[in-house]
Amino acid sequence: MSRRVLGWICVLLWFGLGLGLGTGRAQSSRRDLVRIKGRLHADLGLWGARNGLRGRWNPTSGELRFSNRWINLLFKADTARVELDGVLVWLEFPIAVERGRPYVSQRDLDMTLMPLLKPAKSTPGRKIRRVALSAGHGGKDPGNMEGGRQEKHYTLKLAKELAARLRAAGFEVILVRDEDEYIELDDRPAKANRLKADLYLSLHFNGAGGRGSTTANGLETFSLTLPGGRSTGGGNSTGVQPGNRFDKENLMLAYQVHRSLVQALDFADRGIKRANFAELRDARMPAILIEGGFMDHSEDLKRIMSDRERAKMADAIVDGVRAFKRLAERN
Ligand SMILES: [Zn+2]
Repeated sequence: MSRRVLGWICVLLWFGLGLGLGTGRAQSSRRDLVRIKGRLHADLGLWGARNGLRGRWNPTSGELRFSNRWINLLFKADTARVELDGVLVWLEFPIAVERGRPYVSQRDLDMTLMPLLKPAKSTPGRKIRRVALSAGHGGKDPGNMEGGRQEKHYTLKLAKELAARLRAAGFEVILVRDEDEYIELDDRPAKANRLKADLYLSLHFNGAGGRGSTTANGLETFSLTLPGGRSTGGGNSTGVQPGNRFDKENLMLAYQVHRSLVQALDFADRGIKRANFAELRDARMPAILIEGGFMDHSEDLKRIMSDRERAKMADAIVDGVRAFKRLAERN
């Protein structure tokens, strides 16, 4: 082979590698990708090494820890759980183990892990100023009920407490409802769209389904299910929705707000999940739905009813929104 041909092969190889590194393929070259259950998976150990993370894999416990100066990640084999800096995020697919090595789906790398670890820079001039707050339920729809206490009253209290704090922090606030009235689900994001909100937060308190006092407890925060993707709770997977334009920002907003909540409050962390909720589907801005504890769990209920605890919750949400704003406006 002439030196000239060899030279060209080197250039092409280099170019090919460069392309692989530059795309959303999360810095996995083809060699590390294997098909598991028909889906592309990347070798998790190699992915970590390539992204400057020190890894420790314990095949007995199934735990894989990655860390560097800034980040701590904890995966668990055969589960879709990953803790990012101690905050639970649900992947779409479980971590698979093949021949003693852990693998993560390429889709989870591209759509969940990398967007959180390396958020894309925003477009110049992007501003996050106006926040729409949708207090869950209202009017003829009480939401979850526990001993005569109705979810709709507590979501409205929280929305008003949160609105005051957001305004004090310099945001404009749109209250999708500011009294005990019934508003159709579809009309809620429509109002935020019409009034050009930059963010949409839907506020709820959970219930395990009226089976009396339950052991289910804690906070969960939802972003919209990915197109054709798996829901971690609520709603089936569907095609592309308007809200899917913001998939990566939906997730980042969910992460920042949820992290702030679990760090500031004593609730259990049920994680960041995806659901195909009508409000999230139709919002033409980054949107999340917060379930702020279980009304049919006695400890959670005490916090939900306490003005002091709800104030802490409102403060934590504001902190999360401000963290998101800093990321979204950075370019
Ligand atoms: Zn609700």
